[in-house]
Amino acid sequence: MVMTHGGSAVDAVVAAVVTLEDNPLFNAGVGSPTNSDGQIELDASIMDGVRGDAGAVASVKRIKNPIRLARRVMQDQRHILLAAEGAERFARAHGITLCDPQELINAAPGRSEPRHGTVGCVARDHAGRFAAATSTGGIANKYPGRVGDSALIGCGTFANRSSGVSCTGIGEAIIRVVLAKTVVDLIRPGVPIQVTAKQAIGILAEQTGGEGGVIVINECGDVGYARNTTHMPVCWVRDGGDLVTDI
Ligand code: ASP
Repeated sequence: MVMTHGGSAVDAVVAAVVTLEDNPLFNAGVGSPTNSDGQIELDASIMDGVRGDAGAVASVKRIKNPIRLARRVMQDQRHILLAAEGAERFARAHGITLCDPQELINAAPGRSEPRHGTVGCVARDHAGRFAAATSTGGIANKYPGRVGDSALIGCGTFANRSSGVSCTGIGEAIIRVVLAKTVVDLIRPGVPIQVTAKQAIGILAEQTGGEGGVIVINECGDVGYARNTTHMPVCWVRDGGDLVTDI
């Protein structure tokens, strides 16, 4: 939608991730799981493949849409990753309203449907620009202050001039293999992107025994994805065509 109206890849990934953050069925924004103190701590990151700019936030408690804040950090250019109270102070200074953490927590209990995982989006726009974005509430019952891959550029999110990647799964495993950057490094001309995605998940499983999933888009706009977790429904759309899903 964003791109059919001339928006950039960055606009598109932010819009998609905001929609999913606002949906309590997903582990991001509203609907995130609580840590061992019963609090919500959110991580998110974004990368603009054109300029190689990136922004991220970690362990924020009062931000309804952490991906918007990550984008602000990216636009501001001074830093890449802001955490906890400092990130929230930055939000206030940049016109992003803080929410009551209870608003995020209250949406969680009593859901009848199963919760899906972390949310992520990769995009290539009409000008051939790439972007990737990821947002999560992290692992349920995590130690307070724990930060996962979704806040770390190269681990949960990566984009350059010819590709974009977003990851989900056990952050402690994903970080060890720098999964998003590993996917990009595995891309070879002539090798289907789906093969590359599977190869990366093979590396994750073999080197860490951990579960995860990746989505990747390449220079030609081909989409690849692979997962060894059940928590990763996927959908994509190409050149304004029909939405394709794999749930
Ligand atoms: N990767 C996220 C984290 O470890 C969790 C997830 O993707 O479900 O924080």
